Amino acid sequence: MNLKHLKFILISTPIGFIGSGRGGGVELTLVSIVKGLLELGHEVTLVAPEGSILPDACQRAQLINVSGIDQVSWQHKNKNHPMTIPMDGVLPKMLDRALHIAKDYDAIINFSYDWLPLWITPHLEEKIFHLISMGGVSELMKDAISNLSKSHHRRLAFHSYSQASDYCLKSEPIVLGNGFDLKDYQLQLGTEGPLGWAGRVAPEKGLEDAVEVAASIGDTLLVWGIIEDKKYASNIESSFPPGTIDWRGFLDTQEFQKQLGVCRAFINTPKWNEAYGNVVMEAMACGVPVVAYDRGGPGELIKSGITGWLVPPDDIDQLKIAVSKIDQIDRNDCRNWALQSSSHKEFALRIHSWIIPEIE
Ligand code: UDP
Repeated sequence: MNLKHLKFILISTPIGFIGSGRGGGVELTLVSIVKGLLELGHEVTLVAPEGSILPDACQRAQLINVSGIDQVSWQHKNKNHPMTIPMDGVLPKMLDRALHIAKDYDAIINFSYDWLPLWITPHLEEKIFHLISMGGVSELMKDAISNLSKSHHRRLAFHSYSQASDYCLKSEPIVLGNGFDLKDYQLQLGTEGPLGWAGRVAPEKGLEDAVEVAASIGDTLLVWGIIEDKKYASNIESSFPPGTIDWRGFLDTQEFQKQLGVCRAFINTPKWNEAYGNVVMEAMACGVPVVAYDRGGPGELIKSGITGWLVPPDDIDQLKIAVSKIDQIDRNDCRNWALQSSSHKEFALRIHSWIIPEIE
């Protein structure tokens, strides 16, 4: 395929540096995109909070680290909260750095889920695109996205249809899914392993429901991820028999996938309109069937009865039943589905197809 080679600036999430885990799935999404775009022959500069690191496979990308104070993520605020930017905030500083060099690039892709880059887009000659990483957790953000859709709809893209449905858009959403370097995930075929759960440990992720499933069968649940809300985590721990949760901490992808792949089933229990759900696809990439609420992205990622089971949201009894019939799922089908639907290279191609009509 003959692709026009482009020069991209990517603006990272302002919630935490890449590698911190505080930025959630966006961190891995960014790494995948950088890898994918480089492999397609594009040039990439990533503007990211100080401390950010990229894996060796991304060494050809230029990384501009910007110091400054992190933004507070919108899902931790009241839905009517106004926009706030701290003194010395990293968000405007990243935008400033990106705009300063933009004349030498074809496009800027913004990954910060924040008001300022959206608002400023129609006022600039520089072409800024936004891959929206969350559902509509804030009225102000919903308004900013709807407004931009009215004037510059093609500058917006989403990870899933379900996520996009939270926003009032002028026309059909551009949905790009997500992508992963699937070489980084090994298929493991053992079917006798433990149950697993992964994600930021915070109320919108619904860990308690997965722990209840494990406790009901006297099993242990392995839990990976950053503990964002310590009180929430300790409340869950004290509500179930000691030892039900095996806290594994926040691991790098290499170690995470190694441990994840041992599980007989992965449980995903979002309480919000999950934009995508990286961990769901990562589990399947290791051959691990996923049992999940049919809510948000996971509802579009799991082929129920083939790569796991989807159950009605918040129905813990159905989760338990689904876990009990996990042996009906062929782990090869999970891996194959990940390969078919979510490679980082295909993802980078979809990004390219999204951008190209707007800059030609
Ligand atoms: N993750 C990780 N190490 C861990 C547990 C999780 O790197 O020990 C990463 C995982 O790879 C995924 C992210 O945490 O990319 C969670 O993203 P997801 O899309 O599932 O949820 P979000 O945090 O964006 O709401």
